[in-house]
This record gives sequence, C-alpha cells and structure tokens, in this order.
Amino acid sequence: MKQEVFSFRTKPRQSYIRMGFHIFLTIFVTIFIFHGSCNCDKGHYTFMKDATLAPTYASFDYILIGGGTSGCALAATLSQNARVLVLERGGSPYDNPTASDLGNFANTLFNITPNSWSQLFISEDGVYNTRARVLGGGSVINAGFYTRAGDDYVEEVEWEREAVEAAYEWVEKKLVFEPHVMGWQTAFKDGLLEAGVNPYNGFTYDHIYGTKIGGTIFDGAGHRHTAANLLEYANPDNIVVYLHASVQKILFTKTDGPRPEAYQVIFEDTKGVLHKVELANNPMNEVILSAGAIGSPHLLMLSGVGPMAHLAAHGVKPVILDHPMVGQGMGDNPMSPIFIPSPTPEEMSLVQAVGITKFDSYIEGGNNVTLSFDLTRRFFDGVLHVLNETSRTTSTKILTQPIVDFLRSLDRGFKDMIAVNGMFQKVAGPASRGYMELRNRNPDDNPSVTFNYYQEPEDLNKCVEGLKTIIKVIDSKAFTKYKYPDVTARVLLNFMLGLPTNLRPRHVTSMFNLKQFCIDNVMTVWHYHGGCQVGKVVDKNYKVLGIDALRVIDGSTFLKSPGTNPQATVMMLGRYMGQKILKERAAFFKYQEEA
Ligand code: FAD
Repeated sequence: MKQEVFSFRTKPRQSYIRMGFHIFLTIFVTIFIFHGSCNCDKGHYTFMKDATLAPTYASFDYILIGGGTSGCALAATLSQNARVLVLERGGSPYDNPTASDLGNFANTLFNITPNSWSQLFISEDGVYNTRARVLGGGSVINAGFYTRAGDDYVEEVEWEREAVEAAYEWVEKKLVFEPHVMGWQTAFKDGLLEAGVNPYNGFTYDHIYGTKIGGTIFDGAGHRHTAANLLEYANPDNIVVYLHASVQKILFTKTDGPRPEAYQVIFEDTKGVLHKVELANNPMNEVILSAGAIGSPHLLMLSGVGPMAHLAAHGVKPVILDHPMVGQGMGDNPMSPIFIPSPTPEEMSLVQAVGITKFDSYIEGGNNVTLSFDLTRRFFDGVLHVLNETSRTTSTKILTQPIVDFLRSLDRGFKDMIAVNGMFQKVAGPASRGYMELRNRNPDDNPSVTFNYYQEPEDLNKCVEGLKTIIKVIDSKAFTKYKYPDVTARVLLNFMLGLPTNLRPRHVTSMFNLKQFCIDNVMTVWHYHGGCQVGKVVDKNYKVLGIDALRVIDGSTFLKSPGTNPQATVMMLGRYMGQKILKERAAFFKYQEEA
C-alpha cells in the first residue's frame, strides 16, 4: 500500500508551527539522512557465527573487540597472516539487507529498540546521540558520505603518507562510489559558490577549501556498502567473527607489577553464557580494542584501566593501572541544522555536496529524507525511558517538557510520513572537550558522557560564521526553486527554536543572537571521538601506554575529527595499522629465525 508522504507543497505558507513539527522530525533525519540504501546481499561469511556457538575457551593471535568501521578493516587485514577473532556485540547487517537502504536511513537510525542497530545515548549536555550496534558499526547506520582527511591532518598525526594513500584506495576499491547529483544538491552546491565558498573542486575525495562533491558508500541503486563488506578481503581460514558477543572485560597477567599484559577476554552470548578467549602464546599477539569512541574507553575502565579513584568509587576490581586520561578529551562536533520546506519535491539525497570554509565550518545538506511519525513517536518515548532509567546520574539541566509537548502534538495530528530538506553546519575540531564516566559496571549500559559543546569561544565563532553562510545559500539565486518565496532564513531559524532538537533550555535572545542560537539548538553530527587519544592513552603505534599486548584502533584515538566526515579515515586507519602490525610481526619472526 502506498504511504502518504507529507508535502509542504500541499500545506503552503500559513501553518509555520505545523511545518515546524515536520521539519523537526527531520532534524535527525535530514541532516544525515541524505543517502542511500544497502545492498548487503553478499550472504553470510562462512567464518561468521553467533556467539552462542562459541566454545567456552579458545585462543587466537589477535582478539579484536568490536567489528565496526575500523574493526572490520583491521580484522580483514590481520587475517592475511595471523589467526584473528572478532567479537561484535551486534548482529549481521546482512540479516536485513534493506534496512540500511537510502530510504530507510532515518527509520533505522530512529529504531532504538533493545536489539536494534542504533543504541541511543543522551549526553549530559542534553543532546540525543547514537552508537552503532551491528557488524560494520557506524558505516551501517550513517549518512554514507565519504571523504578523506586533509594532508595537514596526516602530517600532524605523523602517518606515513604512501601507506595512507594505499589504505584509502584499498577501502575505496570495495565500497565507495561517485554520487549521482541531481537538482537539490546541484542548487545547494551552486548556492555555496554564490555564498563565497570557492573554488569549485568538482568530484573529489580530497579535503580542500572550497565546494566539492564527495564520495558515498551508497551505490547508484541506493544500496549501502558497509565496512562489513571489507571482510570479503579476509582470509576465511584465519578468521572467526562472533556476533552478539558482548565483551565484558579484558584480563591482565600482572596486577601488581609495573607493566600489566593483556592475555584474555571474557564475552557473554545472548543466553548469558560467559566465554573466555586467550591470546596464543607468542609475544607479538595482542588484544585490540576497536569498540568505538565510547566503547573502547568504557571497556578499558571496566577492565581496571582508568582514573583510579573513579574506578574504585564504582567498585571496579582490581584496578590494573591508574590511567587518568582514559575517557578524557571526548569531543563531539556540534551541528546546527536548518530545515527548509521545499515546494519542489525531488529525489532523496543525503550528503553529496559540501562547503569547506576557511573559518573551519563544514556546510552539508540533504533533501526529501522521510521518516514515519509512528517511529518518531517511539523514538521520543525511548528518550523519555532512557531519561527515567538514568535520572539519578543525569544532569538536572536536561529538560523533558519539550518532548512531552511534542508527543502531544503528534497525537493530535500527523500520522503518516514526513519528508525533510535541510542544510547544516559542522564545527571542525572541535576545541571544546569533555569526558566520560562510569554509571555502573554493566558494559551493555551507556556510560555518562559530557561533551561541553561550545565551552571554547572559537567553536561558537565557527558556528556563527557557518550559519551566516547557510543563510546566504538559502537566499542565493541558485536555491530559489527549492524554498517558498516568503519563507525567509529568519523564519526558518525561528522554526528551529520551537522544535525539540535537544533537551536544553531555550533563551529568548536566541531569536536575535546567532551565538545563543548555536548554543540552544546544538545537535550532534555523530562524529564524536576521543576517550583514548594518541599521546594520552595510546602511543603513536596505538599501544596502550603502560600496558603490553593491548592496542586501541578506532575513532576514540583521534584528537580531532578528520576531514569533513570521519568514516573514510576510520576505515583507512584499520587497514593502515593492520599492515603495520603485520610488518612488525613478520620482522619479529625473521629476526627469531636468524638468531
Ligand atoms: P564503530 O563503527 O561504532 O564500531 C564500534 C563497534 O564496536 C560497534 O560495531 C559496536 O557494536 C562494537 N562494540 C562496542 N562495545 C562492544 C562490546 N562491549 N563488545 C563487543 N562489541 C562492542 N561519517 C562519515 O564519514 N560520513 C557520514 O555521512 C557519517 N554520518 C553519520 C551518521 C550517523 C547517524 C552516525 C552514527 C555516524 C555518522 N558518521 C559519518 C560517523 C562514522 O560513521 C563514525 O565516526 C565511525 O563509524 C566510527 O567508527 P569506529 O570504528 O570508531 O566505531
């Protein structure tokens, strides 16, 4: 049966409030909802099994915790020359291949039921956020935009340039496409140029100032190609992937000496059975955390590696190493969206064109992103449920009344689908930094995370400049066809203020003051990172400082978000480090043979 899609064409100008509701829903959707679908039709890998089938004891050369965006790239690479086990808490993206199709992007992201691919968390700043919980990680639920880190980034982190290039190419060969750019994105791109985000750099993966079209992990038919597809590169004889394997703890050989050594991992299957897996007896073997920006520091803490007083206060025993920087330096690039109802319905797109400004705000957009009202309602019910569950540890600054009002308004009317168009700006960096803390000792629960959005004035200035640019794009000649003539940017900003885009207080001044608007309307762009930063928790080889046989390789190690969007570099890092580790391993064995 054909579903009715709400259209702003049939609800012209009069009802801005009503329009606001629709637009709002869009928020989550729009912003990142502008892409494709998923053709995960490759079937099951022979080496992929449910954790309930795992023996209670096994040993491997590398135990990878998290089969996400970096984890899959790393596992596929290491399996070329070593025995690898991947422990992933989520299920397989191939079980429901259409769920990450372009048209399902929003619905999958908003599906926050207990075993879904999208795990809701709400930061102490009062901003809704999402963690991936599926093989392939964030690449299964994200907006699919693919773009590399800038040359200066690669230089700063001291990666080896040629190896970086080869690693990006390895990813691109398997997953990445040039998007088919149509009307809305073309107008957006031309609007960016009119607004002064020059020059036009055409289609490129490179991170360079100006306006460009980037890559996408959605193919021409709108099917998503995820990091899980990188496992096609794996040596099937050397790898085992357990799904629904929730890692509880890493164990260490020494608890009192100066350098503890990781040797065992405990994971739980869906029947509640605990399994032990150990490193085979070889000094090159390692446990590698790729559990993401939240999962990796969280598991370190639960395993007794973190700020000692904090771990002791939560009853974590034994404390293996007092590591004050674990969970520190968490960053989430703030996003400010503006929804723009369009009189001209068009094909759906997620991020395709992007403006890379010299003032370090990245401007992206998408259109005709659809989301069912029913799911929206369930999402907000889920938000309230999470808030109830965590009320004792959640900041009192968080306001729930806007959600309650919003749910009532949903009940009064809109029952079908909404379609949203919008632009948003992402603050590069960011400079503002936060931290993670335990709420309890359950690895399946979210820890408490504070990002401190806009604590640093430079982030706020970038946001303001970014919004000014978006306003110019909305008012540009190129974009005329895609907005109602009497809907000004000011009207759109005011709409945004009336929507429950977050759980933060609103100030009257934000109607007139873009700085206050940024603060009141902050959302996540889902590029959060940090928590196990290089130089603070891991060294430049991603080895955990002060501990043997343990590395962290994922987005938690970043000091700032790479490129306009991070997934290309997260996957690249998995491949890059996999190659590096294999080289070290080969050199060690050669040395042993010769000795
Ligand atoms: P993840 O991919 O999250 O991998 C971590 C894995 O570890 C997960 O699979 C998780 O289930 C598993 N795990 C965690 N804890 C445990 C445990 N205890 N036991 C076992 N397994 C565990 N980036 C872009 O470049 N372009 C975009 O368009 C884009 N849009 C985005 C939109 C959304 C909605 C989201 C959520 C992200 C988006 N991103 C985008 C960001 C990008 O997807 C992430 O930065 C990236 O996927 C992070 O990769 P990771 O390997 O660090 O973590």
